[in-house]
Amino acid sequence: MAFQLTPEQEMIRLMARDFAKKELEPFAGKWDREETFPEKAIRKMGGLGLMGMMVPVEYDGAGAGAVSYSLALQEIAYACASTAVTMSVTNLSSDPILKFGSEEHKQRYLAPLARGEMLGAFAVTEPDAGSDPGGMTTRAEEKGDHYLVNGSKIFITNGSYADVIVLITRIGSEKSNRGLSAFLLTKGTPGFRIGRKEDKMGLRASDTVELLFDDCRIPKENLLGKEGIGFKIAMVALDSGRIGIASQSLGIARACLHEAVAYAKTRKQFGKNIGSFQAIQWMIADTAAEIEAAHWLTLYAADKKDQGLPFTREASMAKLFASEMANRAAYRAVQIHGGYGYMKEYKVERLYRDARVTTIYEGTSEVQRLVIAREVLEE
Ligand SMILES: Cc1cc2nc3c(=O)[nH]c(=O)nc-3n(C[C@H](O)[C@H](O)[C@H](O)COP(=O)(O)OP(=O)(O)OC[C@H]3O[C@@H](n4cnc5c(N)ncnc54)[C@H](O)[C@@H]3O)c2cc1C
Repeated sequence: MAFQLTPEQEMIRLMARDFAKKELEPFAGKWDREETFPEKAIRKMGGLGLMGMMVPVEYDGAGAGAVSYSLALQEIAYACASTAVTMSVTNLSSDPILKFGSEEHKQRYLAPLARGEMLGAFAVTEPDAGSDPGGMTTRAEEKGDHYLVNGSKIFITNGSYADVIVLITRIGSEKSNRGLSAFLLTKGTPGFRIGRKEDKMGLRASDTVELLFDDCRIPKENLLGKEGIGFKIAMVALDSGRIGIASQSLGIARACLHEAVAYAKTRKQFGKNIGSFQAIQWMIADTAAEIEAAHWLTLYAADKKDQGLPFTREASMAKLFASEMANRAAYRAVQIHGGYGYMKEYKVERLYRDARVTTIYEGTSEVQRLVIAREVLEE
């Protein structure tokens, strides 16, 4: 058992930290206020290999593995949680192409995604199908050399910027999860358009939109894998995705701790720094301990993935614990700032809003508990 990062992992972490400090942190507050999608910075991240970290070198990825990916994503999220979700979702869309795509799919989509020339998205959620994708009604119908897709998706991260979207739809009359299939949908496909842009509580510099399909014509060769395995593709991708959201949560929590400590050392009440009060110290201690626990749980899940071992249970545990921990960390950071923490002028106000969604997307905390309980009960 080694609790030490390899020199390569350490180097990747430092590279991501350096980039985030210079290119993200100084602008994250402005991007949030103005709802600016940081396209330029994201392209630069592509150039550094951050958008294809788990993609093998033969497809132009960094081939760095899930542990390095988690470390880098934590650094990006520390500086800008919106940019972190953009990075995480692009990695989420690469994963199913790598695992289920044809060689042509890999050359045409995976390699440009890994090089940062393309941006990816992953579309499952519909107005009436969130935690239960089996309830989705967006449907693809086979018509000769293509499929015609009708329906809509909501809350899709990167939706308006994505060059390629992993789209899960229903095919045929099968009503259960077995009736779902996955497609690679590209920008500009006839019958596909972007709908409403969401006005969100947090992650305001990330892109979250509705996707609309009206006789959308997807070529047959863009079916991912084969018909009927869409649910499996989504679940496999989400296992990796959950390591990403756990890492994003960790980055946000670390930023909360940093802000809380800095404030506790300077704010004076009753003639003393508030950091000298035990009540404040306990909040800081709890956050520091919980960050450490979430960090190792997340890297444990990532290490299992790197070793080719099953990691569904560990990824769900990491996502559940880290996301709830980030919300506690954000709550305490605002509390330590008192009234100032409620003001937009202070960074913790943004961190509090950004943390909130981590217990919701890529499977709510309740869904993570279902996954974990099923795995534990089956043991
Ligand atoms: C900012 C943002 C970005 C997103 N990005 C994407 C994206 O890129 N792609 C995508 O496909 N989706 C995306 N989503 C959607 C997200 O994954 C869903 O919101 C999430 O899965 C929950 O679905 P829902 O919102 O329909 O809630 P519901 O499923 O309606 O859940 C409502 C409540 O009921 C609970 N619940 C539901 N079922 C059960 C159960 N069986 N047992 C116990 N409790 C249950 C839930 O935990 C929750 O508390 C995004 C969402 C947000 C907010």
